[in-house]
Amino acid sequence: MLLTPPDFDSAVFEPSETEETVDLFFRGGELLVSEAADSLADDPASNARLASVALGRWRERAYVAHRLPMGASAGTGARFAGLRSLFTSLPTAELAIALRANQLLEWDRTHAHCGACATATVREHHERARRCPACGLSAYPRISPAMMCLVTRGKSILLARNVNFPPGRYSALAGFLEAGESIEDAVHREVREEVGVSVKNLRYFASQSWPFPNSLMIAFTAEYAGGDLRPNGHEIAEADWFDPGNLPQLPPEVSIARALIDATLARLRE
Ligand SMILES: [Zn+2]
Repeated sequence: MLLTPPDFDSAVFEPSETEETVDLFFRGGELLVSEAADSLADDPASNARLASVALGRWRERAYVAHRLPMGASAGTGARFAGLRSLFTSLPTAELAIALRANQLLEWDRTHAHCGACATATVREHHERARRCPACGLSAYPRISPAMMCLVTRGKSILLARNVNFPPGRYSALAGFLEAGESIEDAVHREVREEVGVSVKNLRYFASQSWPFPNSLMIAFTAEYAGGDLRPNGHEIAEADWFDPGNLPQLPPEVSIARALIDATLARLRE
């Protein structure tokens, strides 16, 4: 799973002149990395910085993200790469910090003006917020909670193929919360809507930020309680019960979906 290191200090701060910093340079959703994509790269081309956001401190260094113009060049020995393409090459801690950076830069970019009165907003210094000086509206980084649920029935697990998945790939069920719902409400509703079955005995598993663009995945297991498996067709193309010894293609190891599936299979095998 992709998690920011536990000792990463994300308190709001302004880096001091003397502090050692690690700079993350973004062009759109792409990060500047070394040619081999195995480390962050400095900006050899010295591009203009449109905005900078201090992310936090880790191991006595300040991490700062910079947004470069879309025409920025990578310079010698570096290249821009999409974040998803870095999952297997960049060290996990730096990747997780980069995902956080991308989310904050994107929030900063898309809240330059007030959503109520269109006045230019200003950044608050004591918290991550942009405030409208005219009407006082504050905008915080948006986080959209989503539930994930792996349903079990005896020794079998319920896996589904979303219509957007590559052929053959299956995963746990997932969906966004609606306004007014608890996360448990969302699990019951989404499972019923997506595949037509009801569940019981929800058990929290873990959560993971998934900044494409701003989800927080909250994962559960649940037991089958009743109903016929009936994929709804518009979100779920196929769904079936799978035994631990007979599994389809699963999501990549970096995802919480995979961690949820692997941990549940290990429990069922006991
Ligand atoms: Zn306003």
